Amino acid sequence: MEAWRAVGSWLADVFLWLRGFPVRRTASFLMSSQWWEPEELKRYQDELLRRLIRHAYDNVPYYREVMQQRKLTPADFNGVEDLVKLPVLSKDEVRKNYHRLEARDCRGERFIRTTGGTTGEPLRVVTDKHTGVWSAAAFRRGYSWAGYRPGSGLAKLTGGSLGPGKETWRQRLRSWLTGEIFLPAFELSRENVKLYVEKIKNRRVRFLRGYTSTVYQLATLIREAGLRLTLEAVFTTAETIHPFQRQTIIETFGCPVFDGYGCGEINSVAFECEEHRGLHISQENVVVECLRGGERVKAGEMGKVTLTDLRNYAMPIIRYQNDDLASFATEPCSCGRGLPLLEKIHGRSNDFLVAADGRLVSGSFIPHLFRHTCGIRQVQVEQAEDRTLTIRMVKGPAWSLEEEKMVVQLLQKYLGGLEMHLEYVPEILPTPSGKLKFVISRAAEQIF
Ligand SMILES: [Zn+2]
Repeated sequence: MEAWRAVGSWLADVFLWLRGFPVRRTASFLMSSQWWEPEELKRYQDELLRRLIRHAYDNVPYYREVMQQRKLTPADFNGVEDLVKLPVLSKDEVRKNYHRLEARDCRGERFIRTTGGTTGEPLRVVTDKHTGVWSAAAFRRGYSWAGYRPGSGLAKLTGGSLGPGKETWRQRLRSWLTGEIFLPAFELSRENVKLYVEKIKNRRVRFLRGYTSTVYQLATLIREAGLRLTLEAVFTTAETIHPFQRQTIIETFGCPVFDGYGCGEINSVAFECEEHRGLHISQENVVVECLRGGERVKAGEMGKVTLTDLRNYAMPIIRYQNDDLASFATEPCSCGRGLPLLEKIHGRSNDFLVAADGRLVSGSFIPHLFRHTCGIRQVQVEQAEDRTLTIRMVKGPAWSLEEEKMVVQLLQKYLGGLEMHLEYVPEILPTPSGKLKFVISRAAEQIF
């Protein structure tokens, strides 16, 4: 079956190539460039950046103005180090300057990438064919580190911004040719988990990809239902993967997990290799900086992810900040690839609470904290800019004043003596994008 699907994938690539998407050729370039020496990769990236800056200066009204205000010309940019001469680009600025960020000379087919975001207000970014090709090729390379080859079969547990919506005939044909199947993430439940497992088994799919939380949910449901599903690798994306999630996924599917990082605006930013020491940046496509207070942080320190898409000429995105926090690895990866390594994606800045002494505390500890408090069904902690906490709780049947005291004590233990307000609510509502958040923090944003 796999041999047939390899032929099918080749055919699908020919169709793509005929439509102007040479993904296979680009992927094979990336397969070789990953082994270049770091200096050679850096030179290549610097060259791409110089070209992008020249293009932005000549054709993009927003960047023309920004550079003129700062008395800069493309000659002031030799490489990635010079990026600091340009301001960072926030989501709001992209929204405000949407049309002024579009390149005037861009001809040919354009595509729109839309992202939900936690505020629920969608953000749109225009891309061209070139962007899509390099991004797809980087995906292919990243997944190859887990042993995936076109034709291996991939189940995509997707929905929302990752999902295909209604499948077009092209997608259906592609799915048939390549062995890629779509499983709707939001419809997954205890009742239908068996159908999901059967579909994966019947199509002899050996790889699974999805949002971290939905893959974890699938794993949990499979265990609860006493089902078995063995895979070769699982790809998680879009959300921080916590150690307990990784462990459950590994044990359920009997295979390693490969995390990937990207955002709707800029895909395929970094992928985990077989050494599992962090995520290698797709350096031929993107520049990643980690900033704190506008300065680049040292390796090992957490900073705000700042991305420059080297392959989007339709709407150049330079030094874009998406609220994620990450740190660079202090040691190179033992796999020998020349691509730089991110040690960890820590999550969004609004997932971090700031303790009384200024320490950053990941909000992921909140659900663990309340595992044993059966009188409180749900908790949400909101932190204002001045670090004041509002604790929202949903009472369970076994609620008591003792439990309330315990909640306050636990939070004080981790966060120190911050001002706290307790509120009881009938339920905790999801954000407009549908995520149920344990922590909403406006304090961490002030630090970065
Ligand atoms: Zn590696």
